[in-house]
Amino acid sequence: MKKYAMVIDTKSCVGCGDCVIACKTENLVPEGLHRDWIVEDVSGKFPNLNMEIRSERCNHCSNPPCVTYCPTGASYIKSGSNIVLVNKSKCTGCKACIAACPYDARFIMPEGYVSKCTFCEHRIKKGLVPACASVCPTHSIDFGDVNESVSNVLKLLRKRRYKTLIPEAGTRPNVYYLI
Ligand code: SF4
Ligand code: SF4
Repeated sequence: MKKYAMVIDTKSCVGCGDCVIACKTENLVPEGLHRDWIVEDVSGKFPNLNMEIRSERCNHCSNPPCVTYCPTGASYIKSGSNIVLVNKSKCTGCKACIAACPYDARFIMPEGYVSKCTFCEHRIKKGLVPACASVCPTHSIDFGDVNESVSNVLKLLRKRRYKTLIPEAGTRPNVYYLI
């Protein structure tokens, strides 16, 4: 089985937002809605402040509450992989998945169904990486299958310190942040 992961380097991300624009263009995301976004996280006390910049999106969790709480089966894990998708024809727009997602990764499209990052599944099928990863000028976004021993994502996770977001939620995210 494919276990796709995105590994994002918070040390080299400059917050330019190219990933956000690439996603909007690739996936025709309507004005005012976002499948990915930039977070600037400031911690510490002046003058010893630290700023972490993160490009965030759906974590394609291995234990996704959005799927568990979807009453119609519209939210599902794609067979043979860990990609979490939405079947818009089954979605009633009830927002149960939006309430269940601890990452605020989902939104309602103007047509009334829920949408979110798909890891650019349509590009993966063609052997391409997600649009955000393809345009990042600082090469801060890596994408691949952690079940492949030769994958760069696995090498990065072995070599660098990393974290996932809100691990205490028990969702087992597949987006990793190098720190
Ligand atoms: S494109 Fe790369 S550098 Fe720019 S905000 Fe996104 S992750 Fe950061
Ligand atoms: S980040 Fe949210 S929408 Fe994405 S798989 Fe996890 S719970 Fe579901």
